[in-house]
Amino acid sequence: MKLAIDQTLRHLSQSDIRIMSIECDKMGGINLSQGVCDLDTPAPVIEGAKKAMDAGLNFYTRYDGIPELRQAIAKKLARYNSIEADAEKNIIASAGATGALFCAMTALLSPGDEVVLFEPYYGYHLHTMQAIGLVPVYVRTHPPDWHLDLAAFEKAITPRTRAIIINTPSNPSGKVFSRDELQAIGEVCARHDLLVFTDEIYEYFIYDGSRHVSPGSLPILKDRTVTVSGPSKTYSITGWRIGYCVTTEERAVRIGHVNDLIYVCAPSPLQAGVAAGMDKLPDSFYASISKTYKAKRDKLCATLEKIGLKPHVPTGAYYVLADSSRLPGKDSKEKAMKLLETSGVATVPGRAFYHDKAGENLLRFCFAKTDEVLDEACRRLEKLDLRG
Ligand code: PLP
Repeated sequence: MKLAIDQTLRHLSQSDIRIMSIECDKMGGINLSQGVCDLDTPAPVIEGAKKAMDAGLNFYTRYDGIPELRQAIAKKLARYNSIEADAEKNIIASAGATGALFCAMTALLSPGDEVVLFEPYYGYHLHTMQAIGLVPVYVRTHPPDWHLDLAAFEKAITPRTRAIIINTPSNPSGKVFSRDELQAIGEVCARHDLLVFTDEIYEYFIYDGSRHVSPGSLPILKDRTVTVSGPSKTYSITGWRIGYCVTTEERAVRIGHVNDLIYVCAPSPLQAGVAAGMDKLPDSFYASISKTYKAKRDKLCATLEKIGLKPHVPTGAYYVLADSSRLPGKDSKEKAMKLLETSGVATVPGRAFYHDKAGENLLRFCFAKTDEVLDEACRRLEKLDLRG
């Protein structure tokens, strides 16, 4: 019998990140490819989840999450993001930011709709669109500061374009969109009546005095934005699968129904753990994230500079794109493999972040690692010297 297997998502099985992780494991290397932070989870988060389990919060919750979590998110949105949200009407807790975005795009867009995606992009954004039958429209941001050419952005918009997706701070470039840039983007979106999806999972990972601005806090974008975020990175709980989105009541109801269909609810005791963390952790905890990760960024960037893999020093998130032109290999995959073979450090080939060949001379390094692991990675990298 000939099996009928849909081809739409055939590329999903061959993610470069997964391939590099497998190759890295085979040779006992250090994995700087995956965006998994191996730092400790704050105690109130763990204790909150344990307490909830012991107290019997082990069943389905309302589809948009427990009230304690939605209220904690609403408080945090008002304080940190300057977004006013009603915990009863505007917030959907979901299975990670990934689940929240999937539900939001599924609920609000239709197959064939075009969505502007800024390059370099995060692969899940593209694959989410492809899974739903949306059509990506690629608009490039340019190094060194990942500048967005507004004229090129507006030119890419067609009558079929329904939305854009912003990722600030961005994976993989580390770009932090400024208020002025967001205002300018907002004006284009208002002119063309576009919806804005914004992924702010790295909102606390910001360096060099830059500030996180939520697109949804700008008056011009307030009513056309779906803000997606979550504690996966902030609390180092990527495996818990808690995230959320925030938008107008009308949209939130639709997204909530999709969330109910796909996930039923986010894991109940873990929702309680996140709510406890949000209630109990002081501002100094969030400020310490920038400080801790800036030191990691600086350590890795100094090493990369020293060996001739020139880094694009990021102002946010926890990845560095480095220029790999000096590594042998015909494309970024071969260069990443060469680096893994010679240094034992795994990275992501730059081609994972572009639809064309623009990423072939880039490698992405993740610095969300314990100091011990990062030091060892830097020691191994320093044995290479490509400057000659
Ligand atoms: N959004 C971006 C831009 C990411 O880089 C990642 C993880 O690497 C996620 C979302 C995943 O978030 P979550 O674990 O909440 O699904």
